[in-house]
Amino acid sequence: MANDLAYAAKELGIKYFLISYVDLFGALRAKLVPASAISGMEKTGAGFAGFATWLDMTPADPDLFAVPDASSLIQLPWKPEIGWLASDLVMNDELVRQAPRNVLKSTMLGAGSLGYLMKSGVECEYFLTTPDGAKISDAADNATKPCYDQSALMRRYEVIKEICDCMLTLGWGPYQNDHEDANGQFEMNWDFDDALITADRHVFFKYMARSIAEKHGLRATFMPKPFIDLTGSGCHMHTSLWGEDGSNLFDDEDGELGLSDLGYGFIGGLIHNADALCAFTNPTVNSYKRINAPVTTSGATWAPNTVTYTGNNRTHMIRIPDAGRLELRLPDGAANPYLMPAAVLAAGLDGIQNQRDPGKRLDINMYTDGHKVRGAKKLPLNLLDATRALSKSTVLRAALGAPLIDGYIKLKTEEWNAYSHHLTQWERDNTLDI
Ligand code: GLU
Ligand code: MG
Ligand code: MG
Repeated sequence: MANDLAYAAKELGIKYFLISYVDLFGALRAKLVPASAISGMEKTGAGFAGFATWLDMTPADPDLFAVPDASSLIQLPWKPEIGWLASDLVMNDELVRQAPRNVLKSTMLGAGSLGYLMKSGVECEYFLTTPDGAKISDAADNATKPCYDQSALMRRYEVIKEICDCMLTLGWGPYQNDHEDANGQFEMNWDFDDALITADRHVFFKYMARSIAEKHGLRATFMPKPFIDLTGSGCHMHTSLWGEDGSNLFDDEDGELGLSDLGYGFIGGLIHNADALCAFTNPTVNSYKRINAPVTTSGATWAPNTVTYTGNNRTHMIRIPDAGRLELRLPDGAANPYLMPAAVLAAGLDGIQNQRDPGKRLDINMYTDGHKVRGAKKLPLNLLDATRALSKSTVLRAALGAPLIDGYIKLKTEEWNAYSHHLTQWERDNTLDI
């Protein structure tokens, strides 16, 4: 398919391509390549020094090459002379096994060999803040229950509309935008799709929201818990498995809540592997200030604190809001758009293949009545616990591969250590006079 991109450049008026990839931290890296050079790059890829980003490499490693995936091309609606491309990382002519997009593709290939295609949709909550990120951008957005607040939503109409217009232009099927439960927090929803397409769009959505917010003199942040008293930013993931005949295998009108046995097996896997999964769905030190958090000023965190599932009830880790799908409410805004779905798929398949029992569905308010449920398992309290659980997980290691797991654990352990070496004001306030 050589020269696809050169042709696209001519047809679409693209002058530059952003050949990008996502590292283990979920950060977007790129080279800006003029259209005149794209034919060569399309074949060989753009060169990068692996150690310069977070990919578990050394300075002595040879260059890696980001080979763009032409099918991922997105022409920036707000700057149509630029075409964005997701790419696959190659080193010494072999795929880099710890590269997040490669990991998702190989996990999906494994699922494909069993006859399953995962489809997913993500709900990316984010805050609009002042450019320094210190406070929300709209001082008048101070209601105690700001969720769905029309006035606060419409005061940010210009930004929201511009992002939504972009999604309309791109054909993503955006269908609603709202003010979320924290002051300064918003959410925009677009259609679900094959998990790889959703992952590429997830990456691009964050880039787009940040870019457009910046154009308007604001900052968009997906940080899980930027303000301790306010509800954090989740990244709920809606999931279903589809068969080769194009049918939704989670759909069963005779199943409880319209979910098939396969769907319940998948839930069993998410529950069984929850602790290790957290290392990917809740990947930063800050993530744990969103889950297991005390009540916020609005009255609820809307984030889970237990490894439980339910029907249409937002106080659990997994919700079955509708027939034929489940909503994993665990992930947050820092989740790596590729590693999150890869880990979710691996955990879900483990549940199906090993018939993990999801246990009983709980239809209670977990925030107020959770303590009445004997044995309701708590989510990990911090990144260290999640990382330790990941290091013990034979399921995730087998599915995602040792290079990814080992590199990721190294990186997350360093993050934990760096955080632990940081002295906080809380410690001084509470310890100085002891
Ligand atoms: N912001 C909440 C969270 O952290 C979710 C709110 C909602 O249900 O949309 O997960
Ligand atoms: Mg939401
Ligand atoms: Mg949701």
